[in-house]
Amino acid sequence: MADLLTLEAALERVLERVHPLGSEQVLLDDAAGRVLARDALAAVDLPPFPSSAMDGFAVRSEDTPGTLPVAFRVAAGSPSPDPLPERATAGIATGGAVPDGADAVVPVELTSEHDGLVEIAAPASPGAHIRPRGGDVRAGEVVVEAGSRLGAAQVGALAAAGVATVTCAARPRVALLATGSELRAPGERLAPGQIYESNRTTVAVVLEGAGAVVERLPVVVDEDAAHAESLSRALESDVVVTTGGVSVGPHDLVRASAAGLGVEEVFWGVAVKPGKPLSFGIRGSTLVFGLPGNPVSALVGALLFVRPAVLALQGALHPEPPLDAGRLATPLRRDERRDEFVRARREAGDDGTLLRPVSGQDSHMIVRAAAADALVHVPRGTGELRVGETVRYLPLT
Ligand code: AMP
Ligand code: MG
Repeated sequence: MADLLTLEAALERVLERVHPLGSEQVLLDDAAGRVLARDALAAVDLPPFPSSAMDGFAVRSEDTPGTLPVAFRVAAGSPSPDPLPERATAGIATGGAVPDGADAVVPVELTSEHDGLVEIAAPASPGAHIRPRGGDVRAGEVVVEAGSRLGAAQVGALAAAGVATVTCAARPRVALLATGSELRAPGERLAPGQIYESNRTTVAVVLEGAGAVVERLPVVVDEDAAHAESLSRALESDVVVTTGGVSVGPHDLVRASAAGLGVEEVFWGVAVKPGKPLSFGIRGSTLVFGLPGNPVSALVGALLFVRPAVLALQGALHPEPPLDAGRLATPLRRDERRDEFVRARREAGDDGTLLRPVSGQDSHMIVRAAAADALVHVPRGTGELRVGETVRYLPLT
């Protein structure tokens, strides 16, 4: 591992090996979290007709101020109303269709009604409280563009625009296996020398959150045959993620086993802390990630490399880790050779987000990492980053 790749170079090498998967039709109700493979277009103008933004009275603005008779009332959902007669008003509910001839709505709070007459004290300006037809989007226009991930607002927009099915990227199938003879499932009894297995849980959550369908394979003991058997099955997926067994110890069998199954190693070792002994290879179109075993290293490796690959497989517009800017609450020493990701808590400061590192930065300390909600990027270099210095961080949520 003499020549460690930089973080940027390693991510580039991963992303250049990704060939986006195919697409499929998905019912809108099942589409949250998916990536659109094709622009989704509005089926209708939105709003589909000029509608009232308030409960009140539809008027001709030139008739205001004044006292006007109520010609009729329009409820939300009622069919197209008659045109508004001259020098009259129509009661209208929020979302009601504005009658032809009316060019403003006066909110009910600004009126008083008695004996079928409505008194409007102030002038209404043309267009007031009317939502124009197509003001949000026009039929045939793009509601959400290809490559976008569908969150709450996107799915809601598509529903509002009358879109019932969307074309989404297929979900990447990820096979996830943890290596280590010492690993037991939570709930089992630990014998001396054993620990609980946590990496499959952590990594699965990261990747499922990025749209993957994750299969958790059974724990693999540190023996060649067990590795070969599990890996050969895993290699049928779009992505294989292993944890542990990828360093230089005598029981670190993942790389050799993968090579024996025809996996071509693209790199091993990244100048990042935690997570240095990370390997990446390919077999056919299958991407194979060997994450280090230490739980925080596995988490960081999944976030920095595997998640972007899973998003890129779906054709996402921005697969790279989404770094935000914040300021340091305490100084941080830089590592000369490796980019570091420091677990920190976010605080709202007067000057934007303040980042306060948590205590316990060792790569086995997953419980300390669980107290953090940000990974602060400390670029390699000399000296230290000062208090108040602007840094980039990856939100952990
Ligand atoms: P390794 O890279 O296999 O030498 O593992 C490095 C450290 O991480 C060791 O202390 C392992 O016991 C621990 N470790 C490996 N895999 C897991 C896992 N799936 N869950 C929790 N700890 C693990
Ligand atoms: Mg191990």
